[in-house]
Amino acid sequence: MAKTVVKFGGSSLSDANQFRKVAEIIKDDGKRRYVIPSAPGKRWGADVKVTDMLYNCYDAISAGADAQKEFKPIAERFDGIIADLGLSLSLRDEYETITADFANGAGADYAASRGEYLCGIVLAAFLKFPFIDAAKAVRFRAGGEFDPDLTNASLAALLENNRYAVIPGFYGSLPCGKIKTFSRGGSDFTGSIVAKAVKASLYENWTDVPGFLAADPRIVENPEIIRVITYRELRELSYMGATVLHEDAIFPVRNARIPINIRDTNEPCAPGTMIVPSAGEKDGGAVITGIAGKKNFSVISLEKDEMNNEIGFLRRILTLFEAEGVNFEHLPTGIDTLSIVLNTSELDKTPKLIERINEVARPNHIEVERGLAMIAVVGRAMKEKRGTATRIFAALSHARINIRMIDQGSSELNIIIGVKEEDFEEAVRVIYNMFMLGV
Ligand code: ASP
Repeated sequence: MAKTVVKFGGSSLSDANQFRKVAEIIKDDGKRRYVIPSAPGKRWGADVKVTDMLYNCYDAISAGADAQKEFKPIAERFDGIIADLGLSLSLRDEYETITADFANGAGADYAASRGEYLCGIVLAAFLKFPFIDAAKAVRFRAGGEFDPDLTNASLAALLENNRYAVIPGFYGSLPCGKIKTFSRGGSDFTGSIVAKAVKASLYENWTDVPGFLAADPRIVENPEIIRVITYRELRELSYMGATVLHEDAIFPVRNARIPINIRDTNEPCAPGTMIVPSAGEKDGGAVITGIAGKKNFSVISLEKDEMNNEIGFLRRILTLFEAEGVNFEHLPTGIDTLSIVLNTSELDKTPKLIERINEVARPNHIEVERGLAMIAVVGRAMKEKRGTATRIFAALSHARINIRMIDQGSSELNIIIGVKEEDFEEAVRVIYNMFMLGV
């Protein structure tokens, strides 16, 4: 029978009312059998996420504060949810173990993981599903890296015998048994590895937004919700700053070709965004799936006569970058010119980087321009449609925005445009309007 893995973010589990919405969603579809909760998130703007409360609590206890007193507001948060849900569940023993472990220096990862752990126990009791501690199956190597093969095998074996289960997100264990967490937002990743392990037909990621937006709503008013996006398009947009998912969460399900559906817990009937391995082009409508961008880029432009004939020119520069640990983003080349686009922080990381490039490459001219923004215009339909670049340039030229750099990804999935930072927001708007609104 088809299985769906469902992950609920912190805002979906912030209080008892949200727990009820979550339970309705799960009960509404019998395929929703494996549930990954985050820790309770903010209930209102100035509220504090349980994960942050735990980090702060652990810091205070490590600095000598009283463990019981520091932990009390966290216990109250969970007890409030339990009481509101009318559950006959007591976490008292758990609280005692946790406070003792905090006082004994169990580590910040252990501390933070207790949010998902306790939330998982409460949710499992409410749903009447078995609770499976992620420490038993999500495994890290002794060096701290995630162990995908061991995890996949342990999860698959454990869940084979459980038709339903709640498995807390965000953490797992080291070979010595110590708890280790993923980076912040890592429950998305747990959901993805569980989906892979149980060979789910779908991974639903329930959150508090209606889906993946075609542009940043702080820049474009009411941007469209993307209904279908491929993993590769998502990666391009996420890399350029558009995020709804933890960036590592894509990989396990992508390799297993399991689609992800981003859904809104507060609007359970809305279809959200489907992230799929491959998709047909959009019929007739927009060529572009989405637009994203970031500021704080710089470009190093080099010019050298007959660069085209000089074998090893690029290699010398790239070897220098490798030796200095400098990361770059784009490398558009001309016959006698080369531009290196990089984050300004990378440029500033190595003192005398320009002098060093001069030494190894001996260009006729080298110039650095700071204060650039990069905009990625992404769309799987672009490849087959003529005139996409022309339309982008026309829109920007009409808005009197100067294009500082252009790079078309080799997959023809995106066009990257560099503009001055002060033109960034307007450039995103005019490109959006041109493709999405046809104006
Ligand atoms: N609770 C953790 C955090 O706030 C992990 C997660 O929500 O995915 O980052």
